[in-house]
Amino acid sequence: MRERKGHPLLDLVGLFLPRRCAACDQALYTAERAICGDCASDLPLLRGHNDPENRVEQLFRGKVRLESASAFLIFSKGGKVQRMLHRLKYKGDRNVGLELGMRMAEDVMTCPRFESVDLLMAVPLHRDRERQRGYNQAQVLVEGMAATWDLPMADGGLLRMASTRTQTRKGRMARWGNVKEAFQIDAPEKLEGKHILLVDDVVTTGSTLEGCVLALQAVPGVRVSVMACACA
Ligand SMILES: [Zn+2]
Repeated sequence: MRERKGHPLLDLVGLFLPRRCAACDQALYTAERAICGDCASDLPLLRGHNDPENRVEQLFRGKVRLESASAFLIFSKGGKVQRMLHRLKYKGDRNVGLELGMRMAEDVMTCPRFESVDLLMAVPLHRDRERQRGYNQAQVLVEGMAATWDLPMADGGLLRMASTRTQTRKGRMARWGNVKEAFQIDAPEKLEGKHILLVDDVVTTGSTLEGCVLALQAVPGVRVSVMACACA
């Protein structure tokens, strides 16, 4: 587990407060990291990373060309996966993101369809949004993955240019068009010829990931795979 960067006083307070499971809120034992043993052994795994017909693959079929796509967990409304991702995204709980990232890597790193990945990359947030939140939740997942999987993390690479907040009420094509414009490549020479694993917290329509993939594929020789922490 990596050192959490925070105020030293907050770390001290943390020593005296019981840490709680990010999925069920039970107090954690000392050896447990972010998720209790019961929840960890009962995660709703998607499985099927090697199945070209898995539900994440199907989401992108006919829209964008990918090497492989999958997700670690199945998202359900009001379920434990939603609670964990809510803690990561809105409650400043980076530890659950690191823990989920490590588990994602363990789950996928030995699968033949993902074996040739050579770079981990988070779906970027718009700079203003990242400043508000203090971090990019997808980048936290990537940091957890890199702690387990011996792969480098992309340093920059993809920039999100505009907020896509207002697009949710438009149709899929309109959203795709807008999102496509919203990502730009930074330092393409660092990405040339690489098989990039693009990582996000949740995949629902896939339109954000599609925008990223299209931008990345403008770089010569780039191949892209997708891995989400959860799929709806
Ligand atoms: Zn639990």
